[in-house]
Amino acid sequence: MAGIMIYSAKDNLALELLSAARALAATSGDEIKALTVNNDSQAQMLSAAGADVYTINSSGLVPADIGAMADSLAQAVQQMAANVVLLSSDRSGKELAGSLAQAIGAGCITDVLDLQGKDGRIECRRNALGGAAIATQYIESDRQVIAIAPKTFSAASGQGGSVTELQVSVKPSSIKVLEVKEKDKDSVNIDEADIIVAVGQGLNSKEDLAMVEELANKLGGQVACSKPVATDKKWLSEERVIGLSGKQCKPDLAILLGISGQVQFTVGIRDAKTIVAVNSDENAVINQMADYVLTADLHEVVPELISLLA
Ligand SMILES: Cc1cc2nc3c(=O)[nH]c(=O)nc-3n(C[C@H](O)[C@H](O)[C@H](O)COP(=O)(O)OP(=O)(O)OC[C@H]3O[C@@H](n4cnc5c(N)ncnc54)[C@H](O)[C@@H]3O)c2cc1C
Repeated sequence: MAGIMIYSAKDNLALELLSAARALAATSGDEIKALTVNNDSQAQMLSAAGADVYTINSSGLVPADIGAMADSLAQAVQQMAANVVLLSSDRSGKELAGSLAQAIGAGCITDVLDLQGKDGRIECRRNALGGAAIATQYIESDRQVIAIAPKTFSAASGQGGSVTELQVSVKPSSIKVLEVKEKDKDSVNIDEADIIVAVGQGLNSKEDLAMVEELANKLGGQVACSKPVATDKKWLSEERVIGLSGKQCKPDLAILLGISGQVQFTVGIRDAKTIVAVNSDENAVINQMADYVLTADLHEVVPELISLLA
């Protein structure tokens, strides 16, 4: 029987991959094996969710060394007799996907928004033509590496898993870790957020960002933006950009303030469960995809929302 191996360094994404693997195994009957690297607490968490977990514990393995990680994962693939590897399509997951695929001679698809097992193959849906279309693609080779976008599947639960240690030979890394620092305060993963308050060029000034941040805080959400707000105006970091050149987000709620709705932006937010658009132009394109439309000046709407939430 073939096997599906899952791996993500992040706990929440590893649980989502477990759900994805279970969805595939329901039709293929493949065995699912979860891999962890130098992460005992994640191994326990996945095992508690019912996964058969295989651990690599090696202080010589530096996660930033993608080559060494790919080499170790390739050995795990071999030992587990896995032919499908599911990774998370976050920044490091995508980098790892290409290197691992090369190491094991697999086909590779990243940025997968949905997948299903059909007619003996894994059909993956992802954006095409700059987000104007959704393509269904599959890998023809037996070995496959597929990186799935965060929040495509819900976190798995279950019980009765196991933990087994794997032995791999780790190549001496050419990277030496000198210091580990906390992430920058502005560092965010908007693609994992449940609530997003996004601003566009309709915002008058950088100072007005304070009220947008206050609204996001009151809602327990993250501030995000359209591309020009980050790249042209430099009011927010590029990590917060939604869209083709930014992140694909699937929040439960997206409040879009002063954003016109060009396809390069909407491709990153169209899978939100509920979209609220605030735009002074009643004909703004964004209104066509919004569940709720407020034709108003965002500088009046945001303070009102804040006082209503107080
Ligand atoms: C190859 C390529 C890749 C790109 N990738 C991305 C990407 O990943 N993400 C992205 O966002 N863009 C991307 N773009 C740019 C994209 O095409 C748009 O230019 C951009 O999304 C527009 O940003 P915006 O909606 O904030 O600004 P605008 O299009 O200028 O819209 C501003 C909106 O604010 C409204 N407004 C003005 N004042 C107010 C007010 N007081 N209150 C309420 N509403 C108001 C206006 O009616 C207007 O609808 C890309 C472009 C290219 C060519």
